[in-house]
Amino acid sequence: MTSTLDRTAAASNPNLAPQNDEQRTILAALKSFLKNKVEPGAAERDQSGEFPFEIVRELGEMGIMGAQTPEEYGGAGLDTATFAMIIEEIAAVDGSLCLTVASHNSLCQGHILIAGTEAQKQKYLPDLASAKKLGAWGLTEPGSGSDSGGMQSRATEQPDGSWILNGSKNFITQGSVGGTYVVLARTGPARPGKGKNDGISAFVFNRDEVQGFSIGRKEDKLGLRSSDTAQLIFEDIHLPADALLGERGNAFKDVMRVLDGGRVGIAAMGLGLGRAAFEYAARYTNERQQFGKPISHNQDIAFRLADLDTKLEAARLLIRKAADLKDAGMPFTVPVARAKLFATTVGVEACDEAIQMLGGYGYIKEYPVERYWRDNRLTRIGEGTDEVQRLVISRDVLRRFAE
Ligand SMILES: Cc1cc2nc3c(=O)[nH]c(=O)nc-3n(C[C@H](O)[C@H](O)[C@H](O)COP(=O)(O)OP(=O)(O)OC[C@H]3O[C@@H](n4cnc5c(N)ncnc54)[C@H](O)[C@@H]3O)c2cc1C
Repeated sequence: MTSTLDRTAAASNPNLAPQNDEQRTILAALKSFLKNKVEPGAAERDQSGEFPFEIVRELGEMGIMGAQTPEEYGGAGLDTATFAMIIEEIAAVDGSLCLTVASHNSLCQGHILIAGTEAQKQKYLPDLASAKKLGAWGLTEPGSGSDSGGMQSRATEQPDGSWILNGSKNFITQGSVGGTYVVLARTGPARPGKGKNDGISAFVFNRDEVQGFSIGRKEDKLGLRSSDTAQLIFEDIHLPADALLGERGNAFKDVMRVLDGGRVGIAAMGLGLGRAAFEYAARYTNERQQFGKPISHNQDIAFRLADLDTKLEAARLLIRKAADLKDAGMPFTVPVARAKLFATTVGVEACDEAIQMLGGYGYIKEYPVERYWRDNRLTRIGEGTDEVQRLVISRDVLRRFAE
């Protein structure tokens, strides 16, 4: 029987109250795996930067590495709301692992699902969904980040319809551990009146099937240290005609859809890390005694916890709304921009507040909140910075109120 306390906890955290049996089963198995197999080594991996191949392989067996990929391609075929819950749970334990799972699902597989032919889906998705191969997605370059249409990588079509790819990509998650790569490159000039994002195409290939592909610098990062981030270098890579993913010269519309989907995951990651910090701080302030009483008995601290609890719940609801719109096939670009902007801002704020509430201990590596903060800081940058989300939202606001 559920106690009043359990019911109160469930009401304040929808993740404790999954909507259906499928979600309940998946989340219960995932939480147990996270507690037993992931949490014990998370702090150590943060220090060593070691990539958790074995954990990822086991997540593949559990269906988590192909969470939204349809069952016919070896995935679990889950809806986006469930995916967001999964991401929140993983983030709350290990931010690095969370970024690995989120990008592998939403970016690499997401792009193949959106733009791939039946043959491409059958070739690439089963190995990705089972985590036999890890997926990477290369958009960003040294000279083009937020303004990704300014990319310099080029693919030149050959008389037989194949392609020669040259250029480089920066900051690519799973860059050095990947097996399957989706990369964007310019294949021609923008057509008149189409804007500079026109003329860009996407390509998909397995690393072990091409020549001329190499890994550049592996990045030494502030956080997410056991997630793999590396530069990709393409030197005269010969790609077959069927490596083209989606319409030639018109990949940007797919990129925008991929990023919209990815932002659900990054928003949930910001929330999960923020929740972990908030929960740690709530427990700590109940225990830590100063001036003869728990520090949580100071209304200043209790009210700050109340504010964080409210903001985290609001973030979860914004994410849920964006996820439901995506699954209903409705436009969700603006709702997910709001969700990402808010959830990652609030998530990072919760981590920062947790450090403050722990005082000096919050700054020490023995306690996890400084890791949560370092890991979470990326969520305000990756897959569209705060400012890019504000661009998306403000354009919509100004359009709605234009005369
Ligand atoms: C750990 C990590 C993992 C990543 N993984 C991937 C990956 O897997 N694949 C991939 O393709 N990329 C990846 N990235 C790249 C990431 O998406 C970019 O870093 C991000 O999009 C920002 O681009 P930038 O770093 O070039 O910054 P810039 O675009 O140079 O931006 C710098 C600052 O200027 C601001 N700015 C830019 N334009 C405007 C504007 N018009 N108005 C107001 N402010 C503006 C930005 O918001 C930001 O604050 C990753 C990055 C990191 C750090």
